[in-house]
Amino acid sequence: MSFAIAIDGPAGAGKSTIARRVAEKLSFIYVDTGAMYRAMALFLHRSGISAEDPAAIARKCTEADITIRYQDQEQVVLLNGENVNPYLRTEEVSGMASRSSAVPEVRAHLLALQRSLAARYNVVMDGRDIGTVILPDAQVKIFLTASPEIRAERRFKELTEKGEKAVYEDVLQEIIERDQRDMNRAVSPLVQAADAVLVDSSHKTPEEVEAEICRLAEERMKEDAK
Ligand code: C5P
Repeated sequence: MSFAIAIDGPAGAGKSTIARRVAEKLSFIYVDTGAMYRAMALFLHRSGISAEDPAAIARKCTEADITIRYQDQEQVVLLNGENVNPYLRTEEVSGMASRSSAVPEVRAHLLALQRSLAARYNVVMDGRDIGTVILPDAQVKIFLTASPEIRAERRFKELTEKGEKAVYEDVLQEIIERDQRDMNRAVSPLVQAADAVLVDSSHKTPEEVEAEICRLAEERMKEDAK
């Protein structure tokens, strides 16, 4: 049976950095489910669908064939056969993803892919509903969070380092709005699973968070081997 580490939490808590590091350390596959929602958002945006039209999103989303390939340990997201990794991190796609991910048809479409990856490989999977809905039997569940201000600072730094223009207050506002949408949607809202370990990364280095999660995983593996 494969081993799964589920990492959920709000935008900008450091999930992808941590998940990637833990996966590398344990030789697991890293599955970034946010990237799948982003690929779906890109598809909808390119199709001229409005983010405010859930009925149109529900109709159109089934036309998106989203698959994952691994090249040199990196996750490549294929949207109808095209590598769309370079287009997934824009503010436009982030905004659409946070809205279209609330549409049940979109979630249902991506659930099967996420579960089939976890069935085949040992995974570190990050997202919003991995420990609660996608992999309720994951051996290790983490709810990774940080204060909105710290998360906004991190996103702001990431954007400016990439040469994108950003205003800190706008980034903070966007994070607060995304949290609200993720936590208040009817289907698979962002919520800590009852059996998840809460990790607040506000004042921790990535090394410390990585070590904490690897320790939990190793303890569980030892227990399972008994
Ligand atoms: O994590 P990331 O910011 O890349 O996710 C993009 C958007 O996809 C989020 O705003 C969230 O609404 C959505 N998402 C989700 N469920 C997941 C992963 C991401 O609803 N498992």
